[in-house]
Amino acid sequence: MDIGIDLGTTFSVIAVDGKAVCVKDYPEGYLLEECGVTIIQTPEYEKTFPSVVSFDPDDGSKFIIGAIAKQDAEKGIAPVQWSKRAIGSDQQLPLGDTTLTAKDAARKILEYLKQCAESALGQPVKRAVITHPARFDPNQVQETKQAAHDAGFDMSDSRCMLMEPIAAALSYTRFEERDPLRIMVYDLGGGTFDVTILERKGGVITSKAFDGDRLLGGYTFDRALVEWIIGKIEATGRKVRHDKNNPEDRGRRARLLQYAEDLKIRLSEQGKKKRVPVEVRLDFLIDTEGRKIQVRERITLEEFCQLIALDLAKTGDCLEACLSKAEMSFADLDLLLLVGGSTHCPCVVDYLANEVVPEDAGVEIRKWNPDLSVAAGAAIMTEYLGVIAEGGDVSLHVQTPKTWTLPLVDIRGRVEAKDGRDLTTCNVVLRDDGGATVAEGHAGIDGGFSFEDVSLDELAPNQFTLHVLDAGGAELVRHAFTIEYDEFGSVTEEPTRMLAKAISVETASGPVLLVDEAEHLPTQTITTELVKLHDDPSVTINLLRDNEVIGVIHVEHLPSEATAGSVIKLEVCVTEKSTIEGTAKVFSPSAKDTVLCEQPVRVAFPPAPTPDLGDLEARFRELEDKLIQDLALTRDDNHRMRLAGLGKTIVREMKGKFAEMEPDVLEIIRLIKQLKAVVDPPKIELRPSRADFDDACASCRRLIEENDDKSEIGTYRSALESFVRQGDKAYYGGKQKLWSAAYDGVVGLIRKLMPQVASPGWSHVADPVLTQRMRAHQKVDRVRTKLQDKCEAVAAEMPLQKGKIEARAEPIDLLLRNIDAAIDKISDEIDPDNAESIIVRVLMPLKPIEEKIAILHIDTVPKKK
Ligand code: ADP
Ligand code: MG
Repeated sequence: MDIGIDLGTTFSVIAVDGKAVCVKDYPEGYLLEECGVTIIQTPEYEKTFPSVVSFDPDDGSKFIIGAIAKQDAEKGIAPVQWSKRAIGSDQQLPLGDTTLTAKDAARKILEYLKQCAESALGQPVKRAVITHPARFDPNQVQETKQAAHDAGFDMSDSRCMLMEPIAAALSYTRFEERDPLRIMVYDLGGGTFDVTILERKGGVITSKAFDGDRLLGGYTFDRALVEWIIGKIEATGRKVRHDKNNPEDRGRRARLLQYAEDLKIRLSEQGKKKRVPVEVRLDFLIDTEGRKIQVRERITLEEFCQLIALDLAKTGDCLEACLSKAEMSFADLDLLLLVGGSTHCPCVVDYLANEVVPEDAGVEIRKWNPDLSVAAGAAIMTEYLGVIAEGGDVSLHVQTPKTWTLPLVDIRGRVEAKDGRDLTTCNVVLRDDGGATVAEGHAGIDGGFSFEDVSLDELAPNQFTLHVLDAGGAELVRHAFTIEYDEFGSVTEEPTRMLAKAISVETASGPVLLVDEAEHLPTQTITTELVKLHDDPSVTINLLRDNEVIGVIHVEHLPSEATAGSVIKLEVCVTEKSTIEGTAKVFSPSAKDTVLCEQPVRVAFPPAPTPDLGDLEARFRELEDKLIQDLALTRDDNHRMRLAGLGKTIVREMKGKFAEMEPDVLEIIRLIKQLKAVVDPPKIELRPSRADFDDACASCRRLIEENDDKSEIGTYRSALESFVRQGDKAYYGGKQKLWSAAYDGVVGLIRKLMPQVASPGWSHVADPVLTQRMRAHQKVDRVRTKLQDKCEAVAAEMPLQKGKIEARAEPIDLLLRNIDAAIDKISDEIDPDNAESIIVRVLMPLKPIEEKIAILHIDTVPKKK
């Protein structure tokens, strides 16, 4: 039997497709009626297993997992929790006297889940579909998969790893009949936040765009409450003792976090009673003098929402970014699906409904089994794994649907012998429940067979058996299955796989995009040529995601002729398992067609190293100093604004993080990267240029000021701010797609704010492109006349300076000529509506040029006395 597992940061869930009956002495399964999936409960009768690892106090080598391990936190023994946040890194998570990596923890948890599933179902479980956040890096996916493999699961099928939002959508769409259907999945769990836009069309689910924050979730909120409690204590002049090398202090902190989580859940149960205070009473903390601290405080849901308001606003920004990437607006969505435990909190729903989703967009906001929907989707995905039946050394692989909406169905499969011997002489026979032969045939060279148009009976469940017989007619293996014919059922095809984040290769002249975000997997072959800059016999090429190295391509043992100047041609593809495969060809530097060698690429995804807190603090100080220095020295206004704005915000946030009871290394590493990008912007060529982007924002700002009296101008202002934030996020992360989306957003606002000539009641029809071009040239001409007038005026006043003013006017004239050229390039063939927006963009520099002309002058030197 196959199972689905949601391996969560805080909780994990096991689910089985269909109605599963658990053995007598195990807690009964919980049937999710809507999608026909059974949740396997924990031995403690809970639906979710805490993703917590601890050890047996009597036998330090024995691990304890789940609810009992979580109770340790309440007892003041710090277990390993939220380890999934650190997967893909070599961070050592302390547990008693030893440490674990996140991958070790994942393996322990999965072993325990496997064991529980087997006890519940009373049979061995070999395969599992395990979910992961959409935006996991390839090394994080690989580590999770490896952990599952080490825990004893057969993970050989690429479908065994599934993105969480797709899983949520799979479980939802199982009973939802609308098709096409556009869904945004908002998954706010314990440790990560993911937002994904998905579409179901013709039964196939495709993801359109992704965004999110891999370090934001309920754990962030718990820590906000911890800091709130500590603030209250410090306000009385006492300090909480916390030495992270002291297991007792660590235990007390674990207990405090547990208290905070319980408090958060109590607060969210207040529902509409936003202003009714909840008691906060604890007395297990001690101060630096060793005295007990008694906390007697109260907090309301409203105050709690204030504490996490900035974090919620970050989720809102991600939503906007995701929409931009998909080139959609809220009005294009049918449904906003809320999943993840943290969406139980009323502030989340209120925030989305009141501040994010426009009322008139017609989007239904719906909570969808926040704790269980991902696991349910994983269970549904097991349907696509197909079945493997074993008989001696021969196995039979088949994939059949449980329900089918047509009267005829195709049945395909494959036979395989362990010793690889030829099975083409075997006979594969399909029989109905009465034993009559429905179809038969031989397996092909690859072991494959296929029976087309097998008819189904509408009334009865259609039971079949596949038999594989050897040349003598003896049965080698058999498999029985049922297909239900339901004309009105909905069939969801296997979801397509996509890349959630772009991958680039690092070169001396900056990153070069290899595969863009939201590409289908497996990708087609991607060819990239790189020039070797040194004579070494091996080359390493860094793979980047969000400007961070996530893997390395090794090209080794090159012949000595492959000196500097030889070209390396990478022909690779990203597989559906998110790995990178292909070849590297090396060409001679002298004869460009001569291949010196060709080899398969070897890609390694080493775990990310985790620096210690002291190093991070030193690094932060350096960057902060540089920020202050640059702020005083830089002449670039935009750079100064960014240092003073975004830069200082990051510094403030980082100081807060360092001041926390136990600073979070992962969050600090990320902030340091962000700060570095602001202080020392990466040299990446993005289109349009930074200057164009800034110009557009300036024009938009000006228009907003000019229209200050309009009632809806506030919306424009906040939209612009959101695009600026998005733009910064894109620019410093080197994300082309988001960058152009933010730019288009600003241009869109400009278009809306431009004085409208059409009278109300008339719909606007764009002029033919030719007319539009003519009018655009006229606008440029008007500015050109201004320039000429200015030159003449100066020359009339100071005849001796005529040459000088003309020299100054020349570069401005060149800019105008460039605009003319850009206008001419706009083809008559394109849609006039599009031409209009292109022209707005092309003409954007006119305004700053006019300003330049206005201040064009020649300094007069005061005469010497
Ligand atoms: P993950 O997938 O990261 O394990 P889950 O989706 O299981 O996360 O959500 C777990 C998070 O949800 C935890 O931080 C938990 O405290 C929070 N949570 C669970 N129930 C509630 C609730 N009623 N109110 C607020 N938060 C909740
Ligand atoms: Mg989750």
